Amino acid sequence: MRIYGNYDVVIVGGGASGCCAAIAAAREGANTLVIEQLGAVGGMMNISGPPGWAFSHLYNESGERIIAGIVEELYQDLYKDGLAFHPPLDQYKQLHVQTNVDVDWCGLLLFEKMREAGVHFLLHTMAVDVLKEGNCVKGVVVENCEGRMAVMGKIIIEASGEGEICKKAGVEYQQIDRTKEELDPPSITFHMDGIDWDKAWQYYKDNPDEWVPAWIKGMPGWENSRVAKNRIEALEKYDNLIDCVMDGVTDNIDYQALTLEAIKNGDMHPYGDLGHFFTPRQFGHVQAAFQHTAQIKDCDTTNITEWSAGEVEARRQVVISIKAIQKYLPGYEHAYLTRITTTMRTREGRHTVGDYQMVATDVSSCAKFPDVMAKCGMSATAGGPFHSAATPGTAYNVTEGKVGYVPADGGSYDIPYRAFVPKGIEGMLMTGKLVSCTPDFKRDLLPDNMIWGQAAGTAAAVCVRTGKTPRELEADVSEVQDILRRNGAILEGTK
Ligand SMILES: Cc1cc2nc3c(=O)[nH]c(=O)nc-3n(C[C@H](O)[C@H](O)[C@H](O)COP(=O)(O)OP(=O)(O)OC[C@H]3O[C@@H](n4cnc5c(N)ncnc54)[C@H](O)[C@@H]3O)c2cc1C
Repeated sequence: MRIYGNYDVVIVGGGASGCCAAIAAAREGANTLVIEQLGAVGGMMNISGPPGWAFSHLYNESGERIIAGIVEELYQDLYKDGLAFHPPLDQYKQLHVQTNVDVDWCGLLLFEKMREAGVHFLLHTMAVDVLKEGNCVKGVVVENCEGRMAVMGKIIIEASGEGEICKKAGVEYQQIDRTKEELDPPSITFHMDGIDWDKAWQYYKDNPDEWVPAWIKGMPGWENSRVAKNRIEALEKYDNLIDCVMDGVTDNIDYQALTLEAIKNGDMHPYGDLGHFFTPRQFGHVQAAFQHTAQIKDCDTTNITEWSAGEVEARRQVVISIKAIQKYLPGYEHAYLTRITTTMRTREGRHTVGDYQMVATDVSSCAKFPDVMAKCGMSATAGGPFHSAATPGTAYNVTEGKVGYVPADGGSYDIPYRAFVPKGIEGMLMTGKLVSCTPDFKRDLLPDNMIWGQAAGTAAAVCVRTGKTPRELEADVSEVQDILRRNGAILEGTK
């Protein structure tokens, strides 16, 4: 088979985590290649997922900063150019606050950062298999317009979100048991502009019960939650919706009553809601980002028949939803479609098994590990996904008031290096969505995936420099930690 090239670090997948891994590895001197099936990078961030980068979960519930590093570098660059909302005011700094950025510009920025770092690209190329010697992965088999070829690497990082290469390498994985639990629904997301935000704000002033979202009201004791209190106060305090969003009080609105009315009248499908996020555009412009309005119930994107059918159904739902938005939401009468993601992807998928596998109780106990690579504050689920396409009128799983596993005392937990190393396999690291965890552990947030990418890229570069395998590096990750700290990552000092 033709060999395309030999590299120090080969990264499969140019999504947010893969790009950050590539930047980190190349900056540490590794000859790095990114293999991406599309012509663009950014993955779910800008091609198939949240149409406004929810720059979320940078704080724990105590308001301590837990994620920085490359995430902060990208944010600052975008903010300085007017392509991101400003950081939330101090009183709103908490886990669920999101400071969105313009995802199209963020995708371009990732290209620029990789180019500057000297990363090589193999685009429009699908990784389909691995080349192994014994249990050690030595390269990746790819297919593109020139046919089938091999790419050799000292360290292979899978950042594809899908785990197909891990599977081919023989890495164990688990998937959600669909007979017991709903799959987190994949979505097609879209942007709309032309909204009269004053009219939208007046609707909430006139209907204050609608202002606190249904997913919060589904939690026991929600009235006392900081998120709910902030929102209720804001209704009095702010005279317009966009200032309220800019300050970090809220990043989304859900219009549940109007969604239910539209469903009852046969004008809306029952799988998502008419609520949306907000996304910044150049020159202070704000658009509505509909992320959970077209979503597919019980669709496994590791099954190609289901995935294909889901893509068709999601587009049907987009058309229905846009008509319902224009008909039912005050201020959206002349809203128009400006952007639709090209492919449907999912937060769910394969859960790989690493030398350490994160479990839900690591979340509740705020587990700390000596080989920490990153902090995380996200809760874990309890018997169901956070999002749902099963309850008409809402896109969230709120029906039983499930709260899941929440970090104790508003703290955060560590992600250890061993969770990046696939069990029983050498020469390989996993990052982004593929960092090892059980199905009840949430691993689907962008800033987390990006700093996990930074950690994997840094570790791969250290392996190349020292001649150690990823598993041998487990004995002492202090050099990786030092580099991460120097590059702004937060590894200690939080609850
Ligand atoms: C609808 C939706 C809404 C979301 N909302 C939010 C949100 O509000 N906030 C938030 O923080 N997160 C959100 N997320 C999650 C977030 O987008 C993901 O966690 C994050 O993008 C994962 O990054 P990744 O790099 O690990 O994977 P991906 O973004 O999936 O990137 C993987 C890349 O690999 C490529 N690839 C896959 N297979 C191959 C192959 N075999 N060969 C070559 N290339 C391959 C893909 O094309 C892609 O570019 C959402 C996700 C979805 C789907």
